[in-house]
Amino acid sequence: MARRNTSTWPEVSDTQAPALTCALCEREVSELTQHHLIPIIAGKRRGIKPQDLPTLGLCSACQQYLHSTFSINELATQYNTLEALQENEQVARFVKWVKKQPATKAVKARGRDER
Ligand SMILES: [Zn+2]
Repeated sequence: MARRNTSTWPEVSDTQAPALTCALCEREVSELTQHHLIPIIAGKRRGIKPQDLPTLGLCSACQQYLHSTFSINELATQYNTLEALQENEQVARFVKWVKKQPATKAVKARGRDER
C-alpha cells in the first residue's frame, strides 16, 4: 500500500519542519516566532508599517522572556538590536539558563511564576 516511488516529488522536503535556530539562545527549535525588534505598536507611532519592522527569529521562550522583562518602550528604544539584547545582563543570564533547557520542553519565561 505504501507508495514507494516518490521520485516525481521534489527533493526539497519543505513540508517537514527544518531545524530552526533561535537568534538569541541558539537552540534548535521546530518553530520560531518573529520577534519585532521595534514592537509593532511603537513602529506605528513612528509611522513604520509592521512589515517594514526588523524582526528576529526567536524561540517562544526567548520571545516571551523579552516581553515579560521589558516594556514596549524599552524594547523600542534600548533593545532594538540583537546586540543590545545580548549585552543586557538579565538577558545574558536568561540565555545561559535557557540554553540548557531542552528545546522540546515548553519553558516558562517567568521562572518565579507561582501559579
Ligand atoms: Zn531562544
